[in-house]
Amino acid sequence: MAPVQPGLNPVLSPGPEPASAPNPTPPPTIDYLRISLIDRCNFRCQYCMPEGAELDYLQRSAWLSDDELLLLLGEVFLPLGFSRFRFTGGEPLLRPQLARLIARVAALPGTQDVALTTNGFLLADQAADLYGAGLRRINISLDSLQPEVFDALVGNRGRSRWRQVWQGIQTAHAVGFDPLKLNVVVIPGINDGELLDLAALSIDRAWHVRFIEFMPIGNDALFGDRGWIPSETIRQQVRDRWGLEAGTVLGNGPADVFQIPGAKGTLGFISQMSECFCDRCNRMRLSADGWLRPCLLNETGQIDLKTALRGGTDLALLRHQVQTLLQLKPEINYKQRDAGTTGRYGKTMSQIGG
Ligand code: SAM
Ligand code: SF4
Repeated sequence: MAPVQPGLNPVLSPGPEPASAPNPTPPPTIDYLRISLIDRCNFRCQYCMPEGAELDYLQRSAWLSDDELLLLLGEVFLPLGFSRFRFTGGEPLLRPQLARLIARVAALPGTQDVALTTNGFLLADQAADLYGAGLRRINISLDSLQPEVFDALVGNRGRSRWRQVWQGIQTAHAVGFDPLKLNVVVIPGINDGELLDLAALSIDRAWHVRFIEFMPIGNDALFGDRGWIPSETIRQQVRDRWGLEAGTVLGNGPADVFQIPGAKGTLGFISQMSECFCDRCNRMRLSADGWLRPCLLNETGQIDLKTALRGGTDLALLRHQVQTLLQLKPEINYKQRDAGTTGRYGKTMSQIGG
């Protein structure tokens, strides 16, 4: 079992650089928007929205409608330089008519990239339609290769989920999604014994396995009990087994990308706990009910775009407000880098749009 970092202990956790660290890199261009389409989910992942911790779900009328979303993208975000969009949730495959929405977003002048993050449970049925709509990049969560471990982690409600997710991954591969990335949240004592098996998925197929450090968002108790494993510990396991070299893969993400020598796919490491990347952050987030957030962890300056839109606010004024938030973003990034990730956050990834 890999060495574990304790949970909410900022003294022992290898947090971000100290507050006095200079701002090392010029701020990145902010051109990437993660859009949560729905806050509901058909899974109850222990690290995200565990069974029993029932959340206050949005009414459907509170979601941004497809037309409202299209209007915001076309009249506010694209003119401000956003050109890459990722749909997430909750579980985005639960959103009605998702393929039609994706086709409309992909057809907006200026859209360069549309991607999706899903738990894969409904993917076998939808993969061909999504591909037909123009989606090419897909991230699928797969925390374990052992059905019983997987089912315990995602809350199986008396019905095994693993096989259907695996079928979804196989279908996405057959349909032609490229890159196809597999997201693994690493939880000590749950899936850290099979990280090399998961890494091996990148060898024979061009599948890109990404290990995500467990963050204290969603289930503080589990985080406090289990702690988290630094990416470097996993990289060392891979080095010891196969060797590890630098790699590349198409994407807008914060992952550090490596490759097992000779492998068709890559290994990505998302290390928000051990190697805070806030000052490189190139994204904003739009929640299902239309709140624009500059940061996953920080609500400074967030804007209620849906209420403004429904209240008849002029689109030019909204554009101006978003532009002002864009200008604030580098400062928010640096502040968050200095604050680190060991706080407690009021919302889950499923609500913010992880
Ligand atoms: N339901 C979809 C899924 O699971 O892929 C999309 C939404 S989910 C909130 C997006 C990503 O956030 C997933 O890869 C999930 O594993 C990750 N995530 C959720 N809670 C997390 C946590 N506490 N720490 C790290 N990653 C987390
Ligand atoms: Fe649902 Fe994704 Fe959260 Fe799991 S991580 S509960 S699949 S939103």
